[in-house]
Amino acid sequence: MATSKSKTASKAERTSKEESALKELFTDELKDILWAENQLATSLKKLSEAATSDELKDAFDTHLTETEGQIDRLKQVFESIGEEAEPKKCEAMAGLAKEAEELIKSTEEGTEVRDVALISAAQKCEHYEIATYGTLKTLAGVLGFTEAQGLLEETLAEEKKADQLLTKIAEGSINVAAANEKE
Ligand code: FE
Ligand code: FE
Ligand code: ZN
Ligand code: FE
Repeated sequence: MATSKSKTASKAERTSKEESALKELFTDELKDILWAENQLATSLKKLSEAATSDELKDAFDTHLTETEGQIDRLKQVFESIGEEAEPKKCEAMAGLAKEAEELIKSTEEGTEVRDVALISAAQKCEHYEIATYGTLKTLAGVLGFTEAQGLLEETLAEEKKADQLLTKIAEGSINVAAANEKE
């Protein structure tokens, strides 16, 4: 399998100025996703409390546990590149969290429509994470941070799995039931 490195300038071909600018971008994105993961841990607790079906509650709880592991993994990534693990506010995840809370307020407790809304909110967060970890994984490869790349790949796989599970839950019963609830 070809590595992403072969398609981009090698470390030697890049100037040290370019190299440090890339590392700064990588580090800033790491700080952003660290903040986002922390926010998502809070949001997942609220989503679980608000969920109607046990299956959905379980999915949120499982992903909360995974998210806590991902936060630890991010700290390992920072350590592996010799940077401080300091979070920096992610405006995107802050906005998605706000939308999730609005959806909880605007849907009725104990209904399947509520669950559909929660899945929609959660999947927007997962898609944001998938996009971010995809970029981070690629950047780690370009910069030659092999350990970081492996860790980021692990998290990316978890995010994709979480997203697929939510799709499965939505398709399996909830969307059908929500349609039936309409008068
Ligand atoms: Fe995550
Ligand atoms: Fe972000
Ligand atoms: Zn952000
Ligand atoms: Fe996630």
